[in-house]
Formats: sequence, C-alpha cells, structure tokens
Amino acid sequence: MSFSTSSTSSESLEVRSPGDGARVGEVPLHGREDVLEAVSRCRTVQSGWASLAVSDRLRRLEALHAALGSRAEEIASTVVDETGKPWIEAMTEVVTVLGLLRFYLRKAPGVLEPRAVRTAPLKGRKARVEREPYGVIGVISPWNYPFLLAMEPVVTALVCGNGAVLKPSEHTPLSGSRAEELADEAGLPDGLVRVVNGDGRTGDALVTSGVDKVVFTGSASTGRRVMAAAAEVPTPVVLELGGKDPALVLEDADLDQAAEGVVFGGLYNAGQTCVATERIFVVDSIHDAFVERVVERVRKLRLSTGEDRDVGPMTTPEQMRVVEDHVVDAVEKGARVLVGGDRTDPASNLYRPTVLVEVDESMRVMTEETFGPVLPIRRVRDAEEAVERANDTGYGLFASVWTGDTARGEDVAGRLQAGGVSVNDTLSHYSVPGLPAGGVKESGFGRMRGLEGLRELTRTRSVVVNSVGGGGGPLRFPYGRRGRRVLRSLVAFRREGGVRGLLRAVGAWFGGGS
Ligand code: NAD
Repeated sequence: MSFSTSSTSSESLEVRSPGDGARVGEVPLHGREDVLEAVSRCRTVQSGWASLAVSDRLRRLEALHAALGSRAEEIASTVVDETGKPWIEAMTEVVTVLGLLRFYLRKAPGVLEPRAVRTAPLKGRKARVEREPYGVIGVISPWNYPFLLAMEPVVTALVCGNGAVLKPSEHTPLSGSRAEELADEAGLPDGLVRVVNGDGRTGDALVTSGVDKVVFTGSASTGRRVMAAAAEVPTPVVLELGGKDPALVLEDADLDQAAEGVVFGGLYNAGQTCVATERIFVVDSIHDAFVERVVERVRKLRLSTGEDRDVGPMTTPEQMRVVEDHVVDAVEKGARVLVGGDRTDPASNLYRPTVLVEVDESMRVMTEETFGPVLPIRRVRDAEEAVERANDTGYGLFASVWTGDTARGEDVAGRLQAGGVSVNDTLSHYSVPGLPAGGVKESGFGRMRGLEGLRELTRTRSVVVNSVGGGGGPLRFPYGRRGRRVLRSLVAFRREGGVRGLLRAVGAWFGGGS
C-alpha cells in the first residue's frame, strides 16, 4: 500500500485493529506546512479541472468509479481492520459510495449545466444561471464510517469541479487515504485529491488554510470549534454533526416489525452511527409486549471480533468509556438493565448489546449522544407525549415512527424536528442516493448526497447578455413619463398576474397619470 502524500515531518500515525490490537499500518503525520502545500497544489490543478465541460469531467470520473469497483474487496477489508465492524457493514460503505457516484454521473448534468432564465419584461437580453465550483473543498471526516464519510464529500466535490483536501479521522486514516490512491489510479490530475493526516491540529490547519469551503462530519462540540475557526478566515462550512435519534412506537405498530427495526437501527455498527436510534418512546399499552420482543432479538445477536458476528467491538477506547458512563449513570438514577449492561470482560472492547427500561430525561443516556450498542426504552402515555419528548432535545438528525397506519405515521413524522424521517423503517436513507442527508438544530446544517449535495458544493453565477446595440430600457436616465407608466403597469400586472393582470396593466398604461 502506498501513500503518496509526503510529509515534512518524520513522524507517523500508527493504526491498530480494535479487533485484536494488531498493527494494521501507518501513515505519515502532516503538520500545517504540509496542509498548506496540499491546498496550494490542489488549487493549482483545480482550475483546469473546473474548466472542463461537465460531460468531460464526468467521463473522467467514470474511471474513478471503475477503480473503486475493482478495489471494493480490498477497501472493505481495510475498513474492517481499522474499525472492527462486520464485513457486511464495511462493504456497505463501499457500495453506498459506488451508488452515489453512479447517481451523480447520471444526474449531475441536470444540476450543473447552465439553466436559461426568462428575462421579461426586459427586452433583447438573454440570461442564465451557471453553477461554478467553490475551488478547494476541505473535508474532515470521522472514524465511524471512515470510507463512506470521507469519500462522499470528495466525489461530490470532484463532480462539481472542485478539488478536495481530506483529513480523515486519526483513528482510521487508512480508509480515508484510499481517496487519494483511487484518484491517482483513475488518472485524475495529480494533486486534485490530497489526503493529510493527523488529529484536530491538522484539521484546524485545514479549516484555516484558505480552502474555499469546509465539509465537516463529526461531533457537535468539534463542529462548533470548526465553525468558530472558519469564521476567522471567513470560510463557509457544512456541518454534519451528531444526533440522538428517536424512534416512536405507537400503539397500533406491528410489534415484530418495530422491534426488528429498532434493534437494527440502534445496534448497526455497534450503535456507532450518527443516525442510530438512541431513544425509543413506546406507548404504554404496548410497552411490555414490545420490550419483550426487543430483548428476545438482542439476546440472539452474536457479539465478537471473529468472522461470524452481528455486532463488533467499539472502535475507540474513548467511545467505550462514554458508553459505560451513560449506562452506569442511568442505572444509578433508576434504570433497569434487561440485557447486556457491560463489557464482555474488563480488558475487552466488546460492549454487550444493552436494553434499558425505566429511563427518563434525568439520565445522560437520554440526553447526550451515547454512540454505542444501547437501546434505552421510555414508556410514554400516547403519541402526543412521544412527539413532545422526541423534540425535546438540541439534536435533530433523523427519526422514525412505527405504526400500523402509514398515513398517521407520516402525520406524526411531519411533526418531528429532524433532517430526515422514516415510517416503519430505519437507516434506509443511505441506500437511496437521491435523498439528501443532514440535520437541523445542533445536528448541523447544509446537505450532502442527493442533488442537494451538488448544489451545496457549487455556487450560482447569474449571467445577463444584452444584444449588441440593445437599449437599456425605459427605466434608465433620464427618468420620464414613459418610465412611470411602465412601473405602474408592472405593479398592476404583478398584483394579479394572468389575463386579469394583463388587462389591468393595459388599463394602467393608457389610464394616464403623469
Ligand atoms: P470528532 O468530532 O471527534 O472528530 C471528527 C473529525 O474532526 C476528526 O477527523 C478529528 O480529527 C477532527 N477534529 C478534531 N478537532 C478538530 C478541530 N479543532 N478542527 C478541525 N478538525 C478537528 O468526531 P468522531 O468521534 O470522529 O466521530 C463521531 C461523531 O461524528 C459523532 O458525534 C457522530 O454522530 C458524528 N457523525 C455525524 C454524521 C452526520 O452525517 N451527521 C456522520 C457520522 C458521524
């Protein structure tokens, strides 16, 4: 494996597997100088990339798609090595990026090609809206989906005509480094995609390096720091932050479907998912029957670092401590553990999938992001109380509603403060490349994926072209009677529009007034 980004320092970052602690690899550590060099190199080649016709750019990105497809197995195994997640979840990251890039190759022209705009009532002009790239996009990614969340902003940036400098998480730099390798393999201009490695200091250097936009995915607290640092330059930011996603299980839900969905939504990737189900509100009348079904399913899950497993280890020791603290805090305040509740042994990084009941909002597990394999189930009186409690949080990423009546589900979901909702479903948004992802409230702003992702990483340029020798129109100097009549007619027309508006405009034109 080669990492072409050179470093001015001789230091490196070693990666160890959360599975068995074995050394997986290392990458060079990059400081501020390296970051500035990467951004500058990227900027040099980006202008040529931006000047290509959209169709030419997309043709060249077909090669990136092909490179990614041919290295899918190898990339998935790097993700497994670095994160400890099951192979199916690692390969899902690769498949999701392939799907998004394929979607963009088909749909990007519709968004990126110039769009003509009518110029009436101006005469003799042509107008259009162009979308132009920002320039160099700084991408900062987390460790929980180290390939997916690094690659998605990078490919979006490239499709739009930007270059990208990526700083992957220091816990999982190998997956992120693939971005640069793939770009090189696809024959993209040297330097158009650069990877810089390191912790928050390298990230901060990237944010303040003069990049044209930052796409940050990570925790809400780091997101605030990134935004504050970006304000100094100033640089626009997209913040894809954490969540505390609610699942609302209503009294008419199909309990097996709801239990299966909530267990999957909460425990996929050992709960280390920004859109994991982290709070489960269940209507009183079905609470006990639902809990029974959840516990039954959780007991059957295979937890291990070996081949056959449903749930893998916690990726970082820091996150393990957060999970333990939340469960201990909940139990001290009166929660009951029905299954799980601890590590398999004190030295292990395997945390048992856990079901908690009798939880309330005095507990951290109900108010702060846990990011681990814990399902806190809270009894509520009815759907009203569920909605109220679900919205009573600073976060607003995703949410789900479980009910036997999908129309009712949509109605309830419509009242939830979240960037995305689902009815009788969970975690499926990421399988649909056309759906944008992003949060509200403290979960951030801006959107990645979908056509909105392309709009996010381009800005508009409005162009007006007058015919040669064409006049300026009646509203230019010197102001006179004609200009006043034009404006009065416009007011009359624009008040009503349509035929009536037209008649009123004609009336205003001939109706006098000075
Ligand atoms: P984190 O905030 O600790 O780190 C994220 C990235 O920011 C890392 O690359 C880190 O090195 C870098 N960083 C740290 N300090 C920085 C600074 N001062 N300036 C610039 N960069 C800095 O998050 P994490 O622990 O890696 O990831 C888990 C978090 O990410 C969770 O909160 C999760 O919900 C969130 N997340 C959100 C989404 C989403 O799409 N909304 C997706 C995945 C993860």
